[in-house]
Amino acid sequence: MSPDAPRTAPRPAHPAADEVRRRLEHARTTRLAQLKALDETGSSSGDHLLSHQKDAIKRILAEIDAAFARVHDGTYGICLGCSKPVPPERLEILPHTRHCVACQHRAA
Ligand SMILES: [Zn+2]
Repeated sequence: MSPDAPRTAPRPAHPAADEVRRRLEHARTTRLAQLKALDETGSSSGDHLLSHQKDAIKRILAEIDAAFARVHDGTYGICLGCSKPVPPERLEILPHTRHCVACQHRAA
């Protein structure tokens, strides 16, 4: 239960900041397009589902912004739960994530 990670400075594990930024940029563009598409489809049916979907996308957009900030201060790719580097293949699928798989499950 106790996070017994020693209080060391976060290691600057830079998975090529440029590449990360490009990935995040792409993720943001995709989400914004989805949001726009939902706006345009909207109003006809299933308002409830629609607003739910929009909320989910907005939440991810906020995560993406936060990830940009972490790229900026060099903490990107470090799990907030255990301070270990998040596996690169996970970052490829979920560039905005801030937890490794184990911590994600614990935090969910
Ligand atoms: Zn972790």
